[in-house]
Amino acid sequence: YGDYNQKIDYVFKVVLIGDSAVGKTQLLARFARNEFSVDSKATIGVEFQTKTLVLDQKTVKAQIWDTAGQERYRAVTSAYYRGAVGAMLVYDMTKRQSFDHMARWLEELRGHADKNIVIMLIGNKCDLGSLRAVPTEDAQEFAQRENLFFMETSALEATNVETAFLMILREIYRIMS
Ligand code: GDP
Repeated sequence: YGDYNQKIDYVFKVVLIGDSAVGKTQLLARFARNEFSVDSKATIGVEFQTKTLVLDQKTVKAQIWDTAGQERYRAVTSAYYRGAVGAMLVYDMTKRQSFDHMARWLEELRGHADKNIVIMLIGNKCDLGSLRAVPTEDAQEFAQRENLFFMETSALEATNVETAFLMILREIYRIMS
């Protein structure tokens, strides 16, 4: 449905961070447009996408930011984090290193973002279960220790993508309202 003439009660900026190729762009495409493209390069350069939804009878515009490849050069700038009320820390569950880097991303996030930011850890590509390199329990333990929400997703199969975004948006809403 169109956004025309719709009164927006809240705009929530949520940033996606994590190593290159973990699936950030595809998670965003899945959530915002219900699309998945095997050739992700088509979307490089897109800064953010929005999706408007109703939570508790309020109209919330979720503005979800993608690094658009900046992370390859370790050049995610403070402007990227500015104003963010939520962050999704994404790793690829078939790539141990992308999970091991979560601590570093979290540190960078906490250094730049508002201290009340809601953070969710996302283990993406759960459709590739046979190639799993990160046990669910390891991620759960990290999330618990760092006080993060946690979910395993597949942008490819659309598993838990909507659920994860709704969870973080509901929590942000709960804090803001
Ligand atoms: P980004 O660099 O973090 O934005 O990662 P992309 O979204 O560009 O995805 C990197 C690669 O992983 C692409 O080839 C995607 O098609 C693939 N990919 C992304 N999400 C999934 C997923 O859930 N499952 C599988 N099997 N592949 C995925």
